Amino acid sequence: MELFDSVACTVCGCVCDDLKITVEAGKVGKCENACRLAEPWFLEQETCHPPAATIAGRPCKWQDASAAAADLLRDAASPLIYGLSRSSTEGQRAAVALGERIGATLDTTASLCHAPSVVAIQEVGESTCTLGEVKNRADLVIFWGSNPLESHPRHFERYSLFPEGRAIPGGRANRTLVVADVKPTASSEVADLFLPIEPGRDFEVLTTLRCLVRGIRVCETDSVGAPLDRLRDLAQRMKACRYGVVFFGLGLSMTGLGQHNVEALLLLVHDLNDHTRFCARRMRVPGDVTGADTVLTWQTGYPFAVNLARGYPRYNPGEFSAQGMLERGDVDACLLVGSEGVARFSKRAVESLRRIPTVVLDHPTVASSIEPTVRFTTSVYGIHRPGTAYRMDGVPIPLRAFLSSSYPSDDEVLRSIADRIAR
Ligand code: SF4
Repeated sequence: MELFDSVACTVCGCVCDDLKITVEAGKVGKCENACRLAEPWFLEQETCHPPAATIAGRPCKWQDASAAAADLLRDAASPLIYGLSRSSTEGQRAAVALGERIGATLDTTASLCHAPSVVAIQEVGESTCTLGEVKNRADLVIFWGSNPLESHPRHFERYSLFPEGRAIPGGRANRTLVVADVKPTASSEVADLFLPIEPGRDFEVLTTLRCLVRGIRVCETDSVGAPLDRLRDLAQRMKACRYGVVFFGLGLSMTGLGQHNVEALLLLVHDLNDHTRFCARRMRVPGDVTGADTVLTWQTGYPFAVNLARGYPRYNPGEFSAQGMLERGDVDACLLVGSEGVARFSKRAVESLRRIPTVVLDHPTVASSIEPTVRFTTSVYGIHRPGTAYRMDGVPIPLRAFLSSSYPSDDEVLRSIADRIAR
């Protein structure tokens, strides 16, 4: 029996790095500090042993599969590399290097999640902070279109509500929690203030709040999408707090006006900085989607939907997002680094994916969402291999290896394919 402490979890964007894992007989026996999402994930490791690779469903050595994948991608005129958010910095940078070699389009699962937020941030800027700052300073914490108790179960405990911080010695007692959502949630039940929003009217609510913060008169009889008395109360609390933060989720960025909702929220936060310190942060869902954005940005200059076909990066979400390219039939081979994102594709995109040759890298416990031409089973960063994952606030967290595995890692497979293409 061996105990590993300070283990990081990559199941969600919190990337909690205080887990204690007990390994017994080559398996995870116990995991302390793991939440209800993390514990089953850790315990299921080493329960499945698929072949290291398959070609057309037949098991083979992963090196043979690498040769087959290289042939397939070398011959493609418009290859797509998609996924990346459950990999690690090592796998993501290897994917970019392969993408450069074959002139691929690179896209991540963010294109079907927080893409409108990324574009909004590029348009109007963002006042940011780390989760450490939130823990130490924030006395007003707002969640907008997000239910962290369900999606990020330890967010309250580790960062945003309960911890005692340098300027928040009383922890929960020194913080006000506000939840803004279209319906009551588990998180709103523990909030000090719940702001109910009519579906699809976030933009009007945020614009009204902005007017109230700026002292612009709001007509009492107009419907603005939320109760005006609560908006007045919230505007007052926002201006009066010492340090405020608003975490926003897909309930804001993927509904109604999407990008414009997020722009309205970021501009509100900008205005609040005339009165106090205020920040906005996205609630990222998959464990290393922030890493995928970060690595693509440092390697190509852009966070998603990047085309490398001309030998230099071109960024155009409307043209180079994976789903749109597949729907239009613009892709003739696809490499999926993690196939779980396929579940979010439209029916038309999935049908298109099924018509073209595909290479999939998936973890041992993941059943591929499609039947790929070539499939690799890869080891898991943070379980079998060391690596780096980026927490939702952009802070890189080291990942430890505590189980052994004979499966290759994402970066080993991707570098092997790139080397074969270069020969
Ligand atoms: S909150 Fe997220 S990162 Fe933390 S233990 Fe749970 S699933 Fe893992």
